[in-house]
Amino acid sequence: MSQNAASILAGDHHVHSTFSDDATSTLAENVAAAVEHGVARLRLVDHVRQSTTWVPDFLRAVAELDVPDGLTVLTGVEAKILNASGSLDIPPGLSFGDGGIDTVLIADHQFPGTDGPWSPREARERLDQGLDVGYALDLLIGALVGAMESVPSAQLAHCFSILPKIGLSEGDFTDDQLRTWARAAARTGTLLEVNEKWACPGPRALRAAVDAGVTLVASTDSHAAGDIGRYARVNHLLAEAGVE
Ligand SMILES: [Zn+2]
Ligand SMILES: [Zn+2]
Repeated sequence: MSQNAASILAGDHHVHSTFSDDATSTLAENVAAAVEHGVARLRLVDHVRQSTTWVPDFLRAVAELDVPDGLTVLTGVEAKILNASGSLDIPPGLSFGDGGIDTVLIADHQFPGTDGPWSPREARERLDQGLDVGYALDLLIGALVGAMESVPSAQLAHCFSILPKIGLSEGDFTDDQLRTWARAAARTGTLLEVNEKWACPGPRALRAAVDAGVTLVASTDSHAAGDIGRYARVNHLLAEAGVE
């Protein structure tokens, strides 16, 4: 599928509201800011855990929003990957599609270890103590693939933002690892977000994704409405990846 930068940059696919405890704007304030900034597609997203109970309230509140013509509003919940098999920290019985959420944002907030999530510090310590970098990156790719395969509709949130936190970079991936990741995203119809806040993924991973046929979306990961649709880094990442 052909993708162009202008159309990608007209969307903001990762915008938090007060349903997340670290964000300051309401759903309605986010919609108003998107309209004001000329955003065409807005994905309202909040952080969930297995214990989260507000998803039905969130969906009801989104359904009641006054959305003007010209703006498409989508929904999502953002969940961390819990382990190397790609289990997600989502509440049980989550419903998708009509009356449910549109997509799960798969987040690398912690490192997906063999025995559960490793904090960035714990992952760094394991690497310092001799954990093989190639093996660690296989764990990460395997977890992302498992997570993408476990839900009907997914978006990779700030993918690989975990790497600098553990002293690694996307340059440490082999071409094979990136190909495996990109093909899994294409096969499962997972969207790949190009994230303004974390400026990731980098051009090499984006190129691998585009070559595999993955659909890219832009996101600010906004926690305040004033940031919605404002890009200073995503446009450069797209250009460096050859998406014009
Ligand atoms: Zn996140
Ligand atoms: Zn987020």
